[in-house]
Amino acid sequence: MTDHEVLSEILFDDDVFYRIKSILKEATQAQDVYIVTPYVKLDTRTKDAFEEASEKNVRVTMLIRADADHPIDDINWLLRKRVILRKVDKLHAKIYLGTTGGLVASMNLHSFSGQESKEAGVYFRDEASLKKLQDRVNKWVSNSQEVDPVGATVKQQLQEKPKPQQGVATTKATMALTKGHCIRCGVAKTFNPAYPLCDECYREWAIYKNDAYKENFCHKCGKSHDTTVKYPLCKPCWSLAHK
Ligand SMILES: [Zn+2]
Ligand SMILES: [Zn+2]
Repeated sequence: MTDHEVLSEILFDDDVFYRIKSILKEATQAQDVYIVTPYVKLDTRTKDAFEEASEKNVRVTMLIRADADHPIDDINWLLRKRVILRKVDKLHAKIYLGTTGGLVASMNLHSFSGQESKEAGVYFRDEASLKKLQDRVNKWVSNSQEVDPVGATVKQQLQEKPKPQQGVATTKATMALTKGHCIRCGVAKTFNPAYPLCDECYREWAIYKNDAYKENFCHKCGKSHDTTVKYPLCKPCWSLAHK
């Protein structure tokens, strides 16, 4: 048996992280990568891997734990990179799943993991294990909820410079601002100009990723309007956001 035919591999510490990175690196256009990590904190090397995947139009779906405090900047950064971010109740498993291999590990996608903790993981390449992992991940995805962009006002989101503002998200004003619509089908979704499509429409859009493609609704008011992923707001909403 030659090396590349090995169907599973045990990994420790930083090698777990390098494998996660290679799962993102190996994926090509329109392929799916699933990252199941209850806790998330991004450092430069993790961000680089996401940037690269995003440039190649890889569809990254990330599942994080619902009842945890995630770093606001990282959440908004991932949403801007068009990572499909979903939250799952009671999530504790860590799974990294690409098209040619899957990793089940102790490691969260967290900047301290691997450097400050002792990690272990198993990487699989055999079809039966991959299918089993995919089935379970799909099940979690279908029971997950969209992650709201947090702590940023409309203006900050439009300027793509979200600032951490803990507590603000619960005020009435911000609540009203976080309601939006999918610019393709009009369904209600969280307001985030960097992410103006619902999950379903995003998947269609992601096939071509044309941010100048003509859509149907204003992302903020939901009224019929010629919008694009690049310019998702009608004129009145745009000027309101830029006041
Ligand atoms: Zn839609
Ligand atoms: Zn509008």
